[in-house]
Amino acid sequence: MAIPEHLSLTIPESNLPRIVIIGGGFGGLKLAKGLRKTKAQVVLLDRNNFHTFQPLLYQVATAGLEPDSIAGPLRQTFEGNPNYFFRMVKVTGINPGNNEIETTVGNLTYDYLVIACGSITNYFGNDDIKKRVLPLKRIVHALDLRSHILQNFEQAVLTQDKTKLQQMMNIIVVGGGPTGVEVCGALSELKKHILPRDYPDLDFSAMNIYLIEGTDRLLNGMSKASGDNSLKYMKKLGINVQLNTRVEGYENEVVQLSEGNIESSTVIWSAGVKGNIPGGIDASAIERSRLVVDEFNCVIGSNNVFAIGDVAMMKSEEYPNGHPMLAPVAMQQGVHLAKNFKKHFSGKARTPFKYFNKGSMATVGRNKAVVDMPGGFHVKGLLAWLIWMFIHILYLIGFRNKLIALNNWVWSYLTYDKGTRLIIRTFQRNKGKGS
Ligand SMILES: Cc1cc2nc3c(=O)[nH]c(=O)nc-3n(C[C@H](O)[C@H](O)[C@H](O)COP(=O)(O)OP(=O)(O)OC[C@H]3O[C@@H](n4cnc5c(N)ncnc54)[C@H](O)[C@@H]3O)c2cc1C
Repeated sequence: MAIPEHLSLTIPESNLPRIVIIGGGFGGLKLAKGLRKTKAQVVLLDRNNFHTFQPLLYQVATAGLEPDSIAGPLRQTFEGNPNYFFRMVKVTGINPGNNEIETTVGNLTYDYLVIACGSITNYFGNDDIKKRVLPLKRIVHALDLRSHILQNFEQAVLTQDKTKLQQMMNIIVVGGGPTGVEVCGALSELKKHILPRDYPDLDFSAMNIYLIEGTDRLLNGMSKASGDNSLKYMKKLGINVQLNTRVEGYENEVVQLSEGNIESSTVIWSAGVKGNIPGGIDASAIERSRLVVDEFNCVIGSNNVFAIGDVAMMKSEEYPNGHPMLAPVAMQQGVHLAKNFKKHFSGKARTPFKYFNKGSMATVGRNKAVVDMPGGFHVKGLLAWLIWMFIHILYLIGFRNKLIALNNWVWSYLTYDKGTRLIIRTFQRNKGKGS
């Protein structure tokens, strides 16, 4: 697409080395913050003007939080820093030979490039499924999902056809990782406490929530104990969990499973992600849809292109397939790379990255969560739920967001209410949204 003549990136030339960061997510933002006192020109590019706290997307999708409580403006990071520049553009390609990137408004050269583009939804090559299911990776997805769920019930009230009604009452969540489990927990709360009050004309005993998982357990990235406990919680909440089951197709509101079919007008896809790699990188640096980096996060075969977070695969003895695609990994790599840039500019030797695993967690609903702590300890139930809340509030960007999220959670805990059941913009499926 031709770039309009009046548009360009307008980054001034300077004597300082230019570090271009693609992506203001968990990794990119930590890196940009860490570079504040570095003698470098820092350019952050992101297709959005905000950072997204993805672990709470499911709460936006299920009417627990407004999107602005889980997002923060990226320009705020740069206030008062004359050598910092933010541009809201999409990076469309990289030309490492010329030290140049291509964006929707023109090209930009770099001395150092950091790819922190995160990941995209993995549909495992099934384009038909991609067209019909609802992903949960970006704020637009969460808003679409919220609208879709609410529109569905508004339609259900108007429907005379029993088959169509049942399709609307069946919700399928694909993928039993933390996102799938958390979405199911939140949906079951809606079913129990909110929807029957909002839609007294509908019989919610006919509402079914299915969780479809391809392997033999839930929460594969966590301990077996946490996987088993989450399964128990799911069953207690009335979720129909189908393990060892694959989704093979989805057409005419019928989901074809490896065993049997389910009719449903809502299929939420949380079955996995893959690295989001801009075009132009040599194929020899790509493995399992991630960029292979050395222990300094430098992309192999290059000395000035780096990758951090979900998009990066740093193999080690402990992590032979790279680190898990988690926010703490991205944040720690961002912090570490900033330190290494500083060392590099002052002529000191860089240090290799080492991931400090502080544990992992997933919440299943009110008073129900599982936490794996370092040292092999597992916590579940109310204590795990409180830990989950504390950690999420702690890591939410900005005091205002922390306050609003906490306020909303206390309110819904006490009143069994979720205040954001609004269809602000209607959602039409099959519009071909990006992933
Ligand atoms: C629903 C969900 C729930 C999750 N829950 C948890 C959890 O509970 N705990 C946990 O640790 N992790 C969780 N994760 C994973 C965690 O969010 C990621 O590991 C983390 O966001 C990775 O950080 P990142 O910096 O690599 O990428 P991201 O945070 O995804 O940031 C990438 C940035 O790059 C920008 N970008 C991408 N492509 C381009 C482009 N071409 N041009 C310009 N900008 C671009 C994006 O707009 C984005 O701002 C969850 C993820 C999802 C989707």
